[in-house]
Amino acid sequence: MRIAVIGAGIAGLVAARDLVDAGHEVVVFEKSRGLGGRMAARRAEGEAVVDHGLPVLDVPRDGVLAGFVVDLAADDLVEVVAPGEPVPGRSTEGAPQLAWASGMTRLPKAMAHGLEVVTATRIAAIRADGDVLEVAQDQGNTLGTYDWVVVTAPGAQAADLLDHSPRGAVRAADMRAVAYDMAVMVLAGVAVEPPEWFAHRPLTGPIAYITNEAAKDRPPVDGVASFVARLGADASEDLMEESDAAVLGEVLPALAKVLGKPATKPAWTQVKRWRYSTTRDRLDQGALNPEGTRVLVAGDAVAAGPRMEDVAATGRWAAQRILGS
Ligand SMILES: Cc1cc2nc3c(=O)[nH]c(=O)nc-3n(C[C@H](O)[C@H](O)[C@H](O)COP(=O)(O)OP(=O)(O)OC[C@H]3O[C@@H](n4cnc5c(N)ncnc54)[C@H](O)[C@@H]3O)c2cc1C
Repeated sequence: MRIAVIGAGIAGLVAARDLVDAGHEVVVFEKSRGLGGRMAARRAEGEAVVDHGLPVLDVPRDGVLAGFVVDLAADDLVEVVAPGEPVPGRSTEGAPQLAWASGMTRLPKAMAHGLEVVTATRIAAIRADGDVLEVAQDQGNTLGTYDWVVVTAPGAQAADLLDHSPRGAVRAADMRAVAYDMAVMVLAGVAVEPPEWFAHRPLTGPIAYITNEAAKDRPPVDGVASFVARLGADASEDLMEESDAAVLGEVLPALAKVLGKPATKPAWTQVKRWRYSTTRDRLDQGALNPEGTRVLVAGDAVAAGPRMEDVAATGRWAAQRILGS
């Protein structure tokens, strides 16, 4: 069978790997230039690697993710321990909290190795053409025909695509209603000795948590340590459309309260905005994908719970539906 997977985040890559391992032909289409979706890293000034999406991966033993981590990306792995402070994220009792020294994209890059992944390509429509499905780009260009399509974009983005797919309108309305928190992230390099903690949650102010990237085996570069401050949901919504200067005006004094004076004048800063970060509610994947549909929806909007393991399981669910057909 020929299958198109839309989105190279964790859900899409799990589906793609499972289907390729079962001997099928898979093409992954990804609208951005990089892999991993919201598992995202970038190089800041001075070559420092900073994770500006998911801060740390919670990996239950024997789950879907554990298999990929152990088989494909065990080198470079860091188990993040956080004395005194809980690690951000929805952790599972006893599950190790993992990161990669080279950035959180290490896992998606390893999962994509050997797969056919077409980046910088936004899929805008899926059309039924007889027995097959045609996948098309913004400009209407057709990018091949497939027996199945797996859509893994977050709620509203998936809805835009479902609106232009066979029998997609009802499902689009459901997907559009899935609520997400926005997240404004401030990445900052500060000339301080990295603290002992990995994550710090200020009790007041706009910051939900600060992560200390040195805890991921990323020592300071030229004496400058990297930090990521995630703003809370309300502050993120208020500041989403504001300038970088306005965001920094709110955040740097709060950062300085935690790190001391140098944080008021960091060596470098970057601001990253996520319109869809974490889900507040989710749909049932089985109900959203009735028998007979060959355009399947996976990803965090249809996960059984809010954790990355749940997200990964949606990719496996889609692959199993196809393999069982
Ligand atoms: C700042 C931040 C912090 C987070 N913290 C946590 C946490 O602590 N714990 C937790 O469990 N989760 C957390 N999350 C959420 C977690 O990262 C996501 O649930 C998970 O990464 C979603 O994976 P996914 O594969 O479903 O979607 P994504 O990673 O979003 O992948 C979907 C991909 O589809 C692509 N795409 C979209 N539309 C199209 C299109 N039309 N054509 C082609 N490609 C398209 C996108 O570019 C993207 O790469 C966080 C997210 C953010 C941003």
